[in-house]
Amino acid sequence: MEESKRQILEKHGYALTGSESGVKLCHWVREKLISGRSCYKEDFYGIQCHRCLQMSPVVDLCNQGCLFCWRYQDYHKRSSVKFDEPEDIMKNSIEAQRELVSGFRGDDRCSDKMWKEARDPNQVAISLAGEPTMYPYLGELIHEYQRRNMTVFLVTNGTFPKALEEIDHLPDQLYVTIAAPNEEIYRKLCVPEKKDSWSAITETLELLPSLKTRTTLRHTLVQNWNIGWESEYAEMVKIAEPDFVEAKGYVFVGDSRRRMNLENMPSHDTVKEFAKKEGELLGLKILAEKRDSRVVLLGVGKMEMKLR
Ligand code: SF4
Repeated sequence: MEESKRQILEKHGYALTGSESGVKLCHWVREKLISGRSCYKEDFYGIQCHRCLQMSPVVDLCNQGCLFCWRYQDYHKRSSVKFDEPEDIMKNSIEAQRELVSGFRGDDRCSDKMWKEARDPNQVAISLAGEPTMYPYLGELIHEYQRRNMTVFLVTNGTFPKALEEIDHLPDQLYVTIAAPNEEIYRKLCVPEKKDSWSAITETLELLPSLKTRTTLRHTLVQNWNIGWESEYAEMVKIAEPDFVEAKGYVFVGDSRRRMNLENMPSHDTVKEFAKKEGELLGLKILAEKRDSRVVLLGVGKMEMKLR
């Protein structure tokens, strides 16, 4: 990664843990430590939010330029990339997380127990920045965390089905972001680099039923862009047969404010209305919702939601 980009990311609070990998303290980890409020994944799936390590093996590599993305993008085409080793990433990322939470010691709002637990992360969210399936040792990295008895959530844009097909260790929960009902809206909203990205996403949807792990399709809903078309979205869900569908409202934060407006943030009621309609088309129930995160969870309801 170029030195200039490293400096920008460090200014944005990233702890870089190698040539390409990095960690950033999640807003919700901070929130949980000082106020007790947790992220919706703790409520929905039982992870311990304050023990969650948000990271990416490729913070500066992505093949899309989603307008709603909160990350600092400015991704450059690279002739060569020196990827970090999985074991080094695992060790360095945990060290970095310990450093990132060190400041909470002595903060009256944060109990000693919570601080000690936060220093011992047991959940990893491979969702910080970049497209993680562009990292060639993703299976090994997931294995490094899982053999330390950490649960792993992986978020992908679904444009590398082969990488998912060939992975030797699957995450405990695999998220695929579906932020458009058709190719036309996808190209305008997600600005993919490659011409065949939409068909690659379709391939990923077709692959999901065969993957032996929990799968979640997440719709990032942006007002005036991709809300509606419930039947088109439902057709995509039918192909993928995920365990869960999350309808999640776009939030006007971070670098997305350079590309979006406040009006692009849908209300929770709009998100819920969308989820209800999609759920009816699929025979899925609303299993849970979290108003302050503008998110609604759909599912059949049989599967135990809690991972821990
Ligand atoms: S699961 Fe996501 S939102 Fe929750 S603490 Fe981890 S990184 Fe943050």
